[in-house]
Parts: sequence; structure tokens; C-alpha cells
Amino acid sequence: MSKKLIVGNWKMNPASLDEAKRLSRRIKSVASKLQRTETVVCPPFPFIGQTKPKIPVKNFDIGAQSASIFADTGAHTGEVSANMLRDIGVKYVIVGHSEQRQNGDTDEIVSKRLSNVLTQGLIAILCVGEKARDEAGEYMNELKRQIEQSLNNIPAKMAGNIIIAYEPVWAIGAKEAMLPEQIYETSLFVKKIFADVFGPEYGHRVRVLYGGSVNFRNAFEIMTVGKVDGLLVGRESVNSPGFVELLKAVDKIS
Ligand code: PEP
Repeated sequence: MSKKLIVGNWKMNPASLDEAKRLSRRIKSVASKLQRTETVVCPPFPFIGQTKPKIPVKNFDIGAQSASIFADTGAHTGEVSANMLRDIGVKYVIVGHSEQRQNGDTDEIVSKRLSNVLTQGLIAILCVGEKARDEAGEYMNELKRQIEQSLNNIPAKMAGNIIIAYEPVWAIGAKEAMLPEQIYETSLFVKKIFADVFGPEYGHRVRVLYGGSVNFRNAFEIMTVGKVDGLLVGRESVNSPGFVELLKAVDKIS
């Protein structure tokens, strides 16, 4: 049985390098003792170097929150390439987070970032999710379009390095997470679309994470009833005691 994957997206947090080091030290120490859980933390770019372990830590890896649409070095002010991330030891990259989509990332841009990340042999955490739910089920078309277009031009041989993070936008930064039963249903739908794009063997294998208002109290139920392969965690990932409890709760799932 494969390990559960818990990804902490720190976003533009914490405020100082000292806090980032303290937070990552605590997480590494707990993550390394877990049996059935892999932990990835995605700090802001300037903190990656100092939060990355000097020697490998069991069940712990560093991710980045994005990578440039540009593949090659050059005159691209403010950009960070997938190649640079790989070079400093990053393993995972979040692509297409809804906050970046809100800031202008179209599916075409997401697809370019994804392609660059995969070309470097990194694991992409592709975020998808509907803005709202409607009775008629139009949200399913929205989700389908988003997945298909983000995966546009990605060859099937790279599909094994894609993880899908299903994050309904309405549940991000909210009071409550999505109901675990709905998470289960939608994760099956996500796998089906993935299978339609790349073939059934990839649909069976793709890992689907859930993200949106996950905390240490609801993580166990989301994982067990929602039957997802892991979680993408925002706010709770920079709350040291809460994140540690979340990791321990998930590790109890056999
Ligand atoms: C996110 O932004 O990816 C996220 C899941 O945030 P939160 O956990 O705070 O809802």
C-alpha cells in the first residue's frame, strides 16, 4: 500500500526566515518518525535553501509553490525556472493553484508551467477545482475542461509524475471543508478524466489529493471517507502544533 502524501503550501508565510527554520525543523522531526505518511512542505522561494534538509530526512521533501512558464535561462525578471528548482534539490512543484489562476494564470499558462516542471523530472502537483457548485452540475464541465486543458500537450510518458490536487475554490480559506462523501465522488470523477486523457492504466495510478480548509480535526475523516491519496494543506500547514497533529492523525490510517 502506498504512503499517504501530505503537502503543506505555506503560501507567503511565515514572515521571517527564523520562523520558517523553526517550523520546518519541527515538521521534519515529526515527519521522519511517521510510518505511513510522506510529508512535503512548499515554502516561499527565499526560504527553500534554509528549510531543505542538509542530509535527507526520511519521508520528508521540499516542494516549490510554482515554476516559470519559461524553460530556459534569460531575460525573465522575477522568474524562477523548474531547472533551478531541480538544481537546488526541490522534488515537487505546485502548479495551477487557484490563487495563481485568480491572478491571471489561464489553463494554457498552467500547461506551460506543468510541461517545464515535468521536463525537469520533477513531480507536479496540479491544482484543479471548480469556483462554485450548482444544482445542474455545470461545475463538472468546468472541472473537466480545466483538467483536459491543463494537461494539453503533456505526453502520456510524463503522466506518472503528475499528482492532482482537487481543491474546490469555494472550500479554500473557508470555515468548513467539503463533505468527505462529495470529496470521494469528485476524486473518482477526476481520475476518470485523467484516464480519458492518458489511458486507463494512468487513471488507476494517479494520486489525487484534496485541499480546502483541512485541519487536524477533519483530516482523518477526509482521508478515510473521502478515500483520497493525501491532502494539500494551506493555513494549517503554517500552524506548527496543528500540522503536527494532522500528520499524526493521518499516519494512524492503515
Ligand atoms: C490552499 O490554498 O491550497 C488551501 C488548501 O488553503 P486552506 O487549507 O487554508 O483552505
